[in-house]
Amino acid sequence: MLHEIAPHKLHNEFRTQLPKPDDCVILFDGEKSLLKKQGESFVIPRIKDFGESPLPCHYLFCVDDVGYFLAEPAFAEAMARSVPAGFEFKPVRTFRYMESPLERLGGATAAHIAKWESLNRFCGRCGCATVRGERERSINCPKCGNVVYPKISPVVIVAVHNGDELLMARNLDNPDKSRLFLISGFVEVGENLEQAVHREVLEEAGVHVKNVRYFGSQPWPFSESLIAGFTAELDGDPTLRVQESELATAAWVKREDIPPYDTSVSISSCLIENFRHV
Ligand SMILES: [Zn+2]
Repeated sequence: MLHEIAPHKLHNEFRTQLPKPDDCVILFDGEKSLLKKQGESFVIPRIKDFGESPLPCHYLFCVDDVGYFLAEPAFAEAMARSVPAGFEFKPVRTFRYMESPLERLGGATAAHIAKWESLNRFCGRCGCATVRGERERSINCPKCGNVVYPKISPVVIVAVHNGDELLMARNLDNPDKSRLFLISGFVEVGENLEQAVHREVLEEAGVHVKNVRYFGSQPWPFSESLIAGFTAELDGDPTLRVQESELATAAWVKREDIPPYDTSVSISSCLIENFRHV
């Protein structure tokens, strides 16, 4: 999964440090990050790729001893107006497909923080310009004292088993039309993770589940989420009633008809592969 980079390590404890030439830098402009073309794919730019010294940026975290820095908005905006040759602003999802697992995790996590910072440049309570916290990862309002922490939205995903069949589905907005995935959704206010599992499966597929069991979790920076994975069993009538406003399709798929899934990035694929090997 995305966060499994052992023996390498993400050091995300809050601290400050200065950039080195080989450290990574994220230039974030709205929804996109500036990436460097390398053959047919993209890599994260390094501090040394830019002539500015010192580069206007601040420290986010390290992966091993490689620092990740976020360029200040004015610098990123200037680059967006005049994109340097060999670089391109790409959607956050591009990090998912990077060759290096370290850049996958580092880039996506940095973009998650970058989006949070970009949406909180002004206080949501009083409208005053905010400042970054000096003792913790927070954004503070110097006028009214409002403190904003990084947004991490909990999501549940569930592999519903019915004997040798797995409930599989595809969201309307999933760009991958060739495959089926699992039922998932954001946790609503006032419910716990297991209650969210029951509600999502009933809402999206029209069936009840029992024996909901925790499987594992992963960060999913692409939707600013933390995903909790579960397994469950069908409880009662297997007839599916697809929620057409959310899903393109849903079906019970026999174990032998499920194609292989790449488990290197998503917990969804790990849950599907786990079902294959039950
Ligand atoms: Zn305020």
